[in-house]
Amino acid sequence: MAIPFNKPYFSGNELSYMKQAIESGKISGDGTYTRLCQAFFEKRYNVPRVLLTSSCTDALEMAALLCRIEPGDEVIMPAYTFVSTANAFVLRGAIIRFVDCSPDHPNMDVSLLEKLITPKTKAIVCMHYGGMACDMAKLKTLCDSYKLYLIEDAAQAIESSFHGKPLGSFGHLATFSFHETKNIISGEGGMLVINDEKLMARAEILREKGTNRTAFFRGEVDKYTWVDLGSSYLPSELTAAYLWAQLECMDRIQQKRIRIWNRYMESLAVLKTDVMLPVVPDGATNNGHLFYLVCKNMEERDALIAALRKKDIHAVFHYMALHKSPYYMSRHDGRELPHCDYFSNGLVRLPVFYELEEDQQNKIMKEVLSFYRP
Ligand SMILES: *Cc1c(COP(=O)(O)O)cnc(C)c1O
Repeated sequence: MAIPFNKPYFSGNELSYMKQAIESGKISGDGTYTRLCQAFFEKRYNVPRVLLTSSCTDALEMAALLCRIEPGDEVIMPAYTFVSTANAFVLRGAIIRFVDCSPDHPNMDVSLLEKLITPKTKAIVCMHYGGMACDMAKLKTLCDSYKLYLIEDAAQAIESSFHGKPLGSFGHLATFSFHETKNIISGEGGMLVINDEKLMARAEILREKGTNRTAFFRGEVDKYTWVDLGSSYLPSELTAAYLWAQLECMDRIQQKRIRIWNRYMESLAVLKTDVMLPVVPDGATNNGHLFYLVCKNMEERDALIAALRKKDIHAVFHYMALHKSPYYMSRHDGRELPHCDYFSNGLVRLPVFYELEEDQQNKIMKEVLSFYRP
């Protein structure tokens, strides 16, 4: 039997909650399940405001609007990330200053940031790769001293922390994803965390097509109307109902994924002279989002993926470096980002999903080991 790269997890209660939403007569956004999910995270992460969105991409677009990014503003972010991290800001006309990875970790190298800051810089976006925290202490100090917005792309970072404080609670804004490839899912889905009280009222408006409809439903205004920019960023109650079923068993999902991650790590540790293995940075935690190893170059990577594919094991690589992408290459300022290239060329992700069986994982580990030690 082929081993897929990912299999979306179904906990069992999703359908009955979706049925309840349908029977309640309300399936558009901001109903009972949306409120349950938002309150769950506000309490669990001790953050002032959470808004469910239809994706992390939408939450990032909201973040760019909330920071009032305008054409010509500069935004600093990693080049080694998913395209949405950058696209959300480019849509507002921002110029992206891409940062290289750390030599030993796909997260961006925080020590390179300060020299990229100019009078036009408006925000720094960090991305917690594989749910492993960037150095939030350094990032916060830097953003405070230059008065920049700090945004966490925490798409992969559910249930992870930095020195004990939840990721998503550091930036002015943070975004999470519930896409089916993430730990906790709702098909498509995401959320925006608003830690800066000054941005809260406007966030509700942007998410409701630029209207004050949310305040209207709370009885704060007697009619609702168009008051600002906006779009439709809220998910349906069907999506929120699916998500609620996942949140009820989040601890079990997390434990399983972390156990899978630890088994990979124990078994593949012998390859530490052949490949780069994951390291959990100081103060960070591992949330079992993904397991990777980094081959020496693209040829070795492609050969490993092909060897696994021959045994019906689906491993994948990512990310195509954004500073070399067809869309942004000509807009990039030309700096070389060698560590980003190294991870782009060499990184391989192995299957991690809730239902991955021990014997399947044993087979994956055996094939990886025999690729390097035939
Ligand atoms: C998955 C992911 C996204 C996009 O999430 P969607 O919910 O699919 O929009 C953004 N950034 C990072 C780092 C991701 O891993």
